[in-house]
Amino acid sequence: MLIDTHAHLNFSAYKNDAYEVIKKTLEEGVFVINVGSQYSTSVRALEYAKKHDGLYVAVGIHPLHLQAQKFSYHDPDEIEEVEIETAGEIFQKEKYLELAKNPKVVAIGEVGLDYHHFETEDDIEKLKSKQREIFLEFIKLANVVKKPIMIHCWDAYDDLYEMLEKNPVEKRGVIHSFVGSFKTAKKFIELGYLIGLNGIVTYGISYDKLIREVDLKDMVLETDCPYLTPVPKKGERNEPIYVKYVAKKIAEVKGISVEEVEKVTTENAKKLFGI
Ligand SMILES: [Zn+2]
Repeated sequence: MLIDTHAHLNFSAYKNDAYEVIKKTLEEGVFVINVGSQYSTSVRALEYAKKHDGLYVAVGIHPLHLQAQKFSYHDPDEIEEVEIETAGEIFQKEKYLELAKNPKVVAIGEVGLDYHHFETEDDIEKLKSKQREIFLEFIKLANVVKKPIMIHCWDAYDDLYEMLEKNPVEKRGVIHSFVGSFKTAKKFIELGYLIGLNGIVTYGISYDKLIREVDLKDMVLETDCPYLTPVPKKGERNEPIYVKYVAKKIAEVKGISVEEVEKVTTENAKKLFGI
């Protein structure tokens, strides 16, 4: 059994066939945490979860949704470049608290810091401090509802570490889509966090060293679908069932069986999210 700990079936990429994809995913025995990036997608993730066993939710605001802007979601290894327009989301504390209390909500996220996508004309220091301010609000929320946190972080691991060290999340959480070095991973692991790995690790050998060095007990698997489709499906829209290719890559690099990777990472996810 596998758990895709970070998916976005609640995004518009699935607006025509979300229920078909959910059905197929659950039939394959894959459980999913659908992650909100703003209020509307958090609500939609919860709607889906209420109707299906095996679907869970994280509610939050992606740091890039805090500012009104257009940006391209672009990974150097992805074929597609997707234009995303964000309106500048306001953090509504009471509304998020209401969502977060729901038993199907197993984490607060995705929230965090993204210093990668700033434009040269942006007031960068102001945007960074806004991101830190709202991230802190979500850390507090996680501690109020006693749930773990699902963290998005790009080009900001130092600031993230400092914030998590100063403001501990009682239930800890996941550094999702981790792309740092083992040295950085180790610091978060020592704080009690798990490392979320996805299709990025299947693109060549860049992350083989990280895979070898991070202990299985400190990892969870994810897809971040519709983005970051793993090899050999790269080029297609990503789906939760492709999390098996992430497991396969980890098994190959570590020289262990896929079953063991599945078993241990699924146990990690179950324990952290109370699934
Ligand atoms: Zn995501």
